[in-house]
Amino acid sequence: MSSPAHSDTVLAGILKVVIDRPLRTALDYLPPPGCKAAELPVGARVRVPVGRGHAVGLITGHASQSAMDSSRLRTITALLDPVPVLDANLLSLLMWASDYYHHPPGEVLFGALPVSLRSGGSAHALESHLRITASGHAAQSEAAATLQRAPRQLLVWQQLLAAGGCLPTARLDAMLPKWGPAARELRDRGWVERIELESQAATPQDSSASTDARADASQRSAPGPGLTDAQRQVVDAIASAAGFSSILLQGATGSGKTEVYMQAVAAALARGRSALVLVPEIGLTPQLVERFRSRFDVPLALLHSALGDAERLAAWRSAWQDRARIVIGTRSAVFAPLHDLGLIVVDEEHDSSYKQQDGGCRYSARDLAVRRAQQLDIPVVLGSATPALETLQNARSGRYQRFVLPRRADQSPAPRLALIDLRTQAVHAGLSSAATQAIERHLGSGGQVLVYINRRGFAPTLLCTSCGWIAPCQSCDARLTVHQGAGRMRCHHCGADEPLPERCPRCGYGVKPVGQGTERVEETLTSAFPQQPLVRLDRDTARSAGDIERVTGAVLRGEARILVGTQMITKGHHFPDVTLVVVLNADQGLFSTDFRASERLAQTIVQVAGRAGRAERPGEVLIQTEFPEHPLLQELLARGYEGFAETALAERAAAHWPPFGRIALLRASARDAAHATAFLIAARRASGLDAGPRAGVTLLGPVPTAMARRAGRHHAQLLIESPERATLQGFLRRWLPTVDSLQEARRVRWFLDVDPLDTQ
Ligand SMILES: [Zn+2]
Ligand SMILES: [Zn+2]
Repeated sequence: MSSPAHSDTVLAGILKVVIDRPLRTALDYLPPPGCKAAELPVGARVRVPVGRGHAVGLITGHASQSAMDSSRLRTITALLDPVPVLDANLLSLLMWASDYYHHPPGEVLFGALPVSLRSGGSAHALESHLRITASGHAAQSEAAATLQRAPRQLLVWQQLLAAGGCLPTARLDAMLPKWGPAARELRDRGWVERIELESQAATPQDSSASTDARADASQRSAPGPGLTDAQRQVVDAIASAAGFSSILLQGATGSGKTEVYMQAVAAALARGRSALVLVPEIGLTPQLVERFRSRFDVPLALLHSALGDAERLAAWRSAWQDRARIVIGTRSAVFAPLHDLGLIVVDEEHDSSYKQQDGGCRYSARDLAVRRAQQLDIPVVLGSATPALETLQNARSGRYQRFVLPRRADQSPAPRLALIDLRTQAVHAGLSSAATQAIERHLGSGGQVLVYINRRGFAPTLLCTSCGWIAPCQSCDARLTVHQGAGRMRCHHCGADEPLPERCPRCGYGVKPVGQGTERVEETLTSAFPQQPLVRLDRDTARSAGDIERVTGAVLRGEARILVGTQMITKGHHFPDVTLVVVLNADQGLFSTDFRASERLAQTIVQVAGRAGRAERPGEVLIQTEFPEHPLLQELLARGYEGFAETALAERAAAHWPPFGRIALLRASARDAAHATAFLIAARRASGLDAGPRAGVTLLGPVPTAMARRAGRHHAQLLIESPERATLQGFLRRWLPTVDSLQEARRVRWFLDVDPLDTQ
């Protein structure tokens, strides 16, 4: 809460209130009659009049005066939270995010709250109570006499009186079995009522557990296994970090990163602090969650996208009410309202799911995790086998400490990578003869085989062999993907779904699927190896965490010998009996116009290769390509991810791409392509940068995006770049208010993406 001193200078003071609307600033309000602004806590929700209606707002500050004319100032209608729903630290992180990503503060603040709180719902859980009514209190002596003849009612009545007139029904359940009929009769007399009241569970302010009691409780957790010297070094570095420190923990799958996380968390708990662990996707990391649960005997909350609103609210409350000591969650869990946070871990920090990409504030949870750690002056650990180039550069420049976990003695040596030149091979349905022979060899000697292809469905194209017709999506610049099993054609961009035609709709000749997806590879392998049980893992076969568990379980138990899958198989699980990994097509990432495509490809290859092998049987990785002499592939083969990263960083530096420059994208879409372009041209003109060269900021575009038409809308973008973050931020801050007010903005949907992952 800010100091009330200055608000005394004016009679009641002013409250800065942010509402859940796309406004760039807070609004000014007067406190309710008889109240001083300073009595209303920052971070609490209020109900305020807006236009002709009302809105839920959040107090972000106090002020002694307003720029608005005092006669136009309106008054807060109600205070919704006696205790702030956002504490000062979290509020400041969210305001920082709003400023950095240039997203309206209301949408950022309310976006961090559970859905029911956004519309004014109680922050506390509501609990059913039985309460003596006013007339019941008035009739006390009458009741004492009357109820002598109704012993069950008398019992309920006496319990209520003893409790001061009100009891949670759950307590009555425990005290008086079958109290219901008696309570109904009391209600019929008008003496009691049932009512929903806030649960008496601990609130942030009356949390009674002391730091010492907490630290003692954490000792109940099971001890971890002994650490290797390398692991011990990292755990010590984290535990001894005095204040803020960013630690990059680099280590292959199975090198023991999770054990380091757990011992660092244990150390934080032992100091009476809580810990936040971010993971890319809960469904893909059940093993990690399970290990935390069995290790730590403290309340643990999960926060992820598969939760329903009620579950999410319960998990949020558990952190806010200071019960949860560990929160494990995906992207938005970076805003979990934990108390006494002592450590943040970001597992698989390179994963693109940490960046919000579809709507709302396009934040990076990894970057905000570092920011949050900095604000709280605590350590943050970023773990990965294949760190993002940005993170590696931060380690090189000394901003981050870097630790590398070597392979353990009981771990397999690094898998052998080899290329298969598709130009010199017989290829059947996407599988080269060399790959087929290798699969046969590995299956024959008892190994399991993993086949990776970055495309689901049967085939990416349906082609008429007579007239050349290709099944298009009506709403996108994209082809429809053939889903043979379902007998459908689907667009993977807009969701369009049509029956699979038997004949060409243009000439009536036969059509055939061209190219491969997971479904076709499954078919090919099943007919080539009919005796070998096969499972497929992609978004079509695995829709829930349970599905993923079932498929990976079959591989881990050896029931399946071949696993075919997309990106999903590159995450989370290690399959020790897999001895061969085949990457069917590496070429998509080699020639993309997106400057991050090669980084993603290298990460995918290394991650998928890391799923395989154990000590006595090292893995073999075969990568099919038509460009075996491509420098990226050569570098990766010769020197691994390190070698690739070095070369890629040198390229980025030469081209002034991130992390050596800063970029943002202004993106617009409209049904009419001309409207999107006109808006971006107007925005460019409004920048004033075309009037003459100005130091530091360059605009590129507008240009149509790589797939310009999506779901019936045309997309275009303007790239903004600067060598310096501060220069870029300063420019955006001056420029966006004018962009907001452009006439052309009314005909488009537009947004700004700071530090975009995808620049196509
Ligand atoms: Zn045709
Ligand atoms: Zn489409």
